[in-house]
Amino acid sequence: MTAGEAGLVAGGVVAGGVGAGGRGDVTPAPVDSRPHVVIVGGGFGGLAAAQAMGGSGVRVTLVDRHNYHLFVPLLYQVATAVLSPGDIAAPIRGILSRYPNVDVVMAEVTGVDPASRQVRLDGLGFVPYDRLVLATGSTQSYFGHDEWAAHAPALKTMEDARRIRARLLAAFERAELASDEAERCRLMTVVVIGGGPTGVEMAGTIAGLVRQTLVRDFRRIRPETARVVLVEAGPRILGSFPEELSDYALNALRELGVEVRVGEPVEDIGPGRVRLSGGTIAAETIVWGAGVRAAPAASWLGARTDRGGRIVVASDLSVPGLEGVYALGDVAFAAGEDGTPLPGLAQVAKQQGQHLGRALAANLTRGTPLPPFVFRNRGNLAVVGRNHAVADFGRRRLKGRRAWLFWCVVHVYLLVGFRNRLLVTAQWLWSWATYGRGARLILEDGGAPRAAIAEEAIAEEAARSRPRIADAG
Ligand SMILES: Cc1cc2nc3c(=O)[nH]c(=O)nc-3n(C[C@H](O)[C@H](O)[C@H](O)COP(=O)(O)OP(=O)(O)OC[C@H]3O[C@@H](n4cnc5c(N)ncnc54)[C@H](O)[C@@H]3O)c2cc1C
Repeated sequence: MTAGEAGLVAGGVVAGGVGAGGRGDVTPAPVDSRPHVVIVGGGFGGLAAAQAMGGSGVRVTLVDRHNYHLFVPLLYQVATAVLSPGDIAAPIRGILSRYPNVDVVMAEVTGVDPASRQVRLDGLGFVPYDRLVLATGSTQSYFGHDEWAAHAPALKTMEDARRIRARLLAAFERAELASDEAERCRLMTVVVIGGGPTGVEMAGTIAGLVRQTLVRDFRRIRPETARVVLVEAGPRILGSFPEELSDYALNALRELGVEVRVGEPVEDIGPGRVRLSGGTIAAETIVWGAGVRAAPAASWLGARTDRGGRIVVASDLSVPGLEGVYALGDVAFAAGEDGTPLPGLAQVAKQQGQHLGRALAANLTRGTPLPPFVFRNRGNLAVVGRNHAVADFGRRRLKGRRAWLFWCVVHVYLLVGFRNRLLVTAQWLWSWATYGRGARLILEDGGAPRAAIAEEAIAEEAARSRPRIADAG
């Protein structure tokens, strides 16, 4: 009997057979003889896999802890008040509603039992599968310093973006009322850690926010004097891009007023301060964009991983030694044709999802063997700020306004749903024409450090910078 015949998940809710540990109040589900594919994760990879199996002869259940698909590449625009959360997210049920064979379950997956082929849902029992696709993405890594997370939030989820936006905007509100000059400076200092695409995009957009938008809003402070610092431990920013494009991005950031500090690893982060090898910076807003590690799905399986916790998969994306289990996107370690690991990018996850979805549908309905996955690189893009971006297509490279326009068109095209495309285009046109940022709302507590702790940070920085002032004199 297949998991499909057991008919354990039906009608959009986990019903008719929630396993031990479930809520127990269940109704019998109709018997369904179609093979059952369970996908964990409705991000780029999982959603693409579900869409590719939509309308096929297999039954699909997609499980995600959220009820929405998030367009992560534009998350930094929510954190910097360019866009609102609803502009870059769409309900998973709505996206998949046209496929009657695809079911959606909002639940946290807490484990997998490969022997009995079941996925464990938090508080909801088990879902059986014939094939399991793990597409749980990645999370931030603080390189063994998880205590830094409280002071330097990372940008991975919608909640993170809203929290960072709140902290950033609230800092300027408090600076407007601050009577102490050092405290005002600390409140108006933003440190972004990590010179990859996320850090560069954050720093450039924050510089635009303070110098072009907030500048008109305040009466006592001068937001254009705010300090925006981008810190990178390596020798250059955008290290995965050709050097020529890194140099362009560096100059563009400096033009925007960002202080770029390369070759300075972070030594410590505390409330309201960052200690680098070259000194301590007192800053109210600290954003972590330096490291990622895979979501913990490998521990559910006991599967082999790389150093970043990614599940090592075969060329057809199957997990060796575990029949019927596959992994893709950020949670998987897959090698490209030349043997080098594929990067953690949305285009990789999406192509893998499309490939695996089609392959599994063909395999389960017609017995076609699973072909290997081949990645087609469509190019690497990073935006630096208004009118500045870089694009690397291998032999062709673009920079400046042309790259920026290309970046805008590509991102609107890739957004899920006509509504979001329309909203984002309208917001961008309005922001571009007016320098305005429509989403400057403080909706929650950004987790700001307490004043006493902040004072400590200011005192520490003053003590450290004293010899340099003396030298200059
Ligand atoms: C700030 C930022 C900017 C980026 N910019 C770009 C860019 O410009 N271009 C680019 O190509 N890539 C970019 N990336 C990388 C890109 O977002 C990822 O490579 C891509 O999202 C990976 O897709 P995925 O499907 O593997 O995971 P995700 O898209 O992260 O989706 C994972 C899904 O799994 C769900 N999930 C996880 N664990 C569980 C669980 N236990 N139970 C239930 N559900 C679970 C999550 O809710 C989520 O919906 C960026 C990443 C970040 C953080």
